[in-house]
Amino acid sequence: MAVTTGGIIKTVGITIAFGLISEVCYQSYLWWKKKYRTPIPKKKKQECEVLFFPDNRVACKSHFIGEGCGKLGCHFSHEPNSLSKLFEYLTKARKSLDVCVFVFTCSSLADILVEAHKKGVVVRVITDDEQVDVSNSQIWKLRKEGIIVRTDRSSFFMHHKFVVVDQAFLMNGSFNWTNQAITGNQENLMITYSTDLVQQYSQEFDKLWKQFNPQNFIS
Ligand SMILES: [Zn+2]
Repeated sequence: MAVTTGGIIKTVGITIAFGLISEVCYQSYLWWKKKYRTPIPKKKKQECEVLFFPDNRVACKSHFIGEGCGKLGCHFSHEPNSLSKLFEYLTKARKSLDVCVFVFTCSSLADILVEAHKKGVVVRVITDDEQVDVSNSQIWKLRKEGIIVRTDRSSFFMHHKFVVVDQAFLMNGSFNWTNQAITGNQENLMITYSTDLVQQYSQEFDKLWKQFNPQNFIS
């Protein structure tokens, strides 16, 4: 069959037309996809962890967050445990440490707050008024170092045990800051970076901080 010039032109024309229609359809699809398709949200990073107590031994603060422990036969734990992780979480603070704790008798944890305060971290502590003067209470040490501690002044308990660090993450659970809680009791301490939870606990802290302002108790 003879191939005519008209036939070639027709074939080329059809090919070009088909190509153009395909391109228009594809570009239309891309435009529609961009305009109407609901983007799949990127999975939000939700770091979380829970620390369970008791530990076998109290963690050695110098070993985990200090300049190292040089004590021969140190009777504190050099193996990572829940308390050593708590040390590490607390020392992440760069701006603020809002601590709400019912009983506070652990000197290592008090030292961490004092060290943070000296580095310029704004440390605020709320505790129960009836726990301020218990044996080994760390509250007066904190106050002596310039950390403001506020209390309820009620026969009911200020029973919270939570910390908001840098308004970035929250630690909350049953854990009091005592050696009994560290090496004796069954306790839990949950750490979450959930912005919703961090915000709610932060607001609650601010509310209590204002409520327990000593000026409110002047009669
Ligand atoms: Zn040690």
